Amino acid sequence: MTGPVTVADIRAARARIAGRIVRTDMAPSPALAAIAGVPVHLKLESRQTTGSFKLRGASNAIALLTDEEKARGVVAASTGNHGRALAHAAKLEGMRAVICISRLVPQNKLDEIRSLGAEIRIVGASQDDAQDEVDRLVADEGLVMVPPFDHASVIAGQGTLGLEMLDDAPDAAMVVIPVSGGGLAAGIATAVKGVNPKTKVIGVSMARGAAMKASLDGGRPVEVEELPTLADSLGGGIGLSNRLTFAMCRDLLDDVVLLSEAEIAAGIRHLYAVEREIAEGAGAVGVAALLTGKISPCGPVVALVSGRNVDMNLHRQVVNGERTEFERLDAIATGRAA
Ligand SMILES: *Cc1c(COP(=O)(O)O)cnc(C)c1O
Repeated sequence: MTGPVTVADIRAARARIAGRIVRTDMAPSPALAAIAGVPVHLKLESRQTTGSFKLRGASNAIALLTDEEKARGVVAASTGNHGRALAHAAKLEGMRAVICISRLVPQNKLDEIRSLGAEIRIVGASQDDAQDEVDRLVADEGLVMVPPFDHASVIAGQGTLGLEMLDDAPDAAMVVIPVSGGGLAAGIATAVKGVNPKTKVIGVSMARGAAMKASLDGGRPVEVEELPTLADSLGGGIGLSNRLTFAMCRDLLDDVVLLSEAEIAAGIRHLYAVEREIAEGAGAVGVAALLTGKISPCGPVVALVSGRNVDMNLHRQVVNGERTEFERLDAIATGRAA
């Protein structure tokens, strides 16, 4: 089977971005192994430069631009981990980067992106307004859009994580990874199944607002309401005209597991208290899924910790065992005692 992104593309991406990203550590977790009954390894991509794996895809996409495109510069509408990664990768290349955001984005996120040298355009009051500005900049100023997930070079960049996982744990029977737009899952699954077709790849999302899961269940890309979640980096849709990641996730993922806000909080807490790692909600869902017993591994497991860009006040609340606003809203929505 040859899809839009191949293992060869991912191997080429690995060589291309080698000097621009950190090859992150893999650490055994005896505590999770005791719970899961099989060896568990944590791929600590939370330690990646810019705090998430998004730098892999952004770096690969930028490295593949022509000189003429590099001279024009890049643009994206993400204020989260993709925006930060793109700003960093563009700066390394000495390129112009414009990040479009709505008025609602908090000042600290603005400051982070600005400190990486990117230009910021503040437009409107929603992500849609920001995307309109991206489209305008592409049309009027010739900037090149680098989307956060539905793009072959971005998927190949994220897939380099799958190669590193199997290099460090060649006997892995299962890898567990977060899923939002599916660029990460599509890339890792392509790499892992390309190297070892028997390895299972399990996706994890938050229960409320899981666009990829709803789309897989519906057999086509669907929209879901975006709701507040501890796993904020997993929010947002997959795009009704999704070109690549929907079909790749449909063909390559063995299962997608959903978690409550309380379960995600338990994952963050375990990573901090037991593994001594700081993770954001999206980064903790793999570990959280293992803690719940919602997945039953039959051999060595690799769980990806995908990022650490969490608001530290929120993190403190979670690790102190305080109930967050997200857990309260989740309990109300699902009819459990608030
Ligand atoms: C973007 C992101 C994800 C999800 O990646 P997709 O390619 O959108 O599925 C998971 N974790 C973190 C930390 C992220 O920033």
